[in-house]
Amino acid sequence: MALIVQKYGGTSVGSPERIKNVVRRVAKYKALGHQIVVVVSAMSGETNRLIALAKEMQAQPDPRELDMVVSTGEQVTVGLVSMGLMQEGLKAKSYTGAQVKITTDSAFTKARILSIDEQNIRTDLANGYVVVVAGFQGVDNEGNITTLGRGGSDTTGVAIAAALHADECQIYTDVDGVYTTDPRVVPEARRLKTITFEEMLEMASLGSKVLQIRAVEFAGKYKVKLRVLSSFEEEGDGTLITFEEDEKMEQAIISGIAFNRDEAKITVRGVPDKPGIAYQILGPVSEANVDVDMIIQNVGVDGSTDFSFTVHRNEFDKAMDILKNQVQSHIGARNVVGDNKTAKVSVVGVGMRSHVGIASKMFRTLAEEGINIQMISTSEIKISVVIDEKYLELAVRVLHKAFDLDQEPA
Ligand code: ASP
Ligand code: MG
Repeated sequence: MALIVQKYGGTSVGSPERIKNVVRRVAKYKALGHQIVVVVSAMSGETNRLIALAKEMQAQPDPRELDMVVSTGEQVTVGLVSMGLMQEGLKAKSYTGAQVKITTDSAFTKARILSIDEQNIRTDLANGYVVVVAGFQGVDNEGNITTLGRGGSDTTGVAIAAALHADECQIYTDVDGVYTTDPRVVPEARRLKTITFEEMLEMASLGSKVLQIRAVEFAGKYKVKLRVLSSFEEEGDGTLITFEEDEKMEQAIISGIAFNRDEAKITVRGVPDKPGIAYQILGPVSEANVDVDMIIQNVGVDGSTDFSFTVHRNEFDKAMDILKNQVQSHIGARNVVGDNKTAKVSVVGVGMRSHVGIASKMFRTLAEEGINIQMISTSEIKISVVIDEKYLELAVRVLHKAFDLDQEPA
């Protein structure tokens, strides 16, 4: 017997028919002897509808009152799911976040969970109930209803699983797992059976569509075993997000190819090679709230060097303006050049820690296609390159093949 938390997103509870599907799955697990806590989102579209309603009353809805309104979406679905379970002959009981007592801070619309009182849930489970908990919401120390930010039901699911020390937290969604890369670019992309928590964070550009990143971070912190599955398929094990030290099987060295089309590259040329320059270049950029991704500085030769970094393509013009108008003459750089037609491709895998030659294989593969590498950066489990955007899809395809990602690992 296992204790399983199952979280269902908005599309999975989008209609009475869909809710009946959820009920059938819960009943199946229950029949196997498991204890089940169900965490649900509002019916699809409902949260948007409630926000729009609030805006009809107040152009900038009062945050406390907005949470009062939007938290009702989940209150409806927990009741409906419980009724469906009862209709199926199961014992079921619904809870709002406040009834469980999911205590949060008072940051309305983006509250953080401080603690969960899991006593009532435990008692109900022991008495044979399926417990149905509203996602996305909690209560602060003054008794105000709070919400956790859009997509926050994922975080509720993981937090409840952590509080109960559940054996597994299953996130049911409309995709059937995490893939080796985007199947729209590489049709041979495979669903991963497992991915480590750290890889999942690195693959954010692929994974964020699947899971709220905060939920992944929470799972990492509390060591919650997370699984992403499709709620529209009867069979399938989805993707299990694991911890590296748990891996018993021989893992593929590389788990996936992540990419980002929206990268823009900026180089400040001929900057003096002396203390404080990196700060003088990036300080004004960050003051303007422009996020910087990759940063590279060359070794100084004859007292000067080049300094390159990447930003989101939407912020390219803003960053170029800052550098040309505020920075270049100020620090005595030769000139500033940029390119907003670049893309980033990364190979990700914890196997890199114990295998050499990944970088050279990656670079050779790109060289064989005549793809020029403009920038390189590495972390322990990731190698990223910036290339001309027009070669992005080719690069992803050849790397996917070179690292045998189209094959099940032996
Ligand atoms: N219903 C909320 C939203 O739409 C929370 C969630 O679905 O996770 O953002
Ligand atoms: Mg969601």
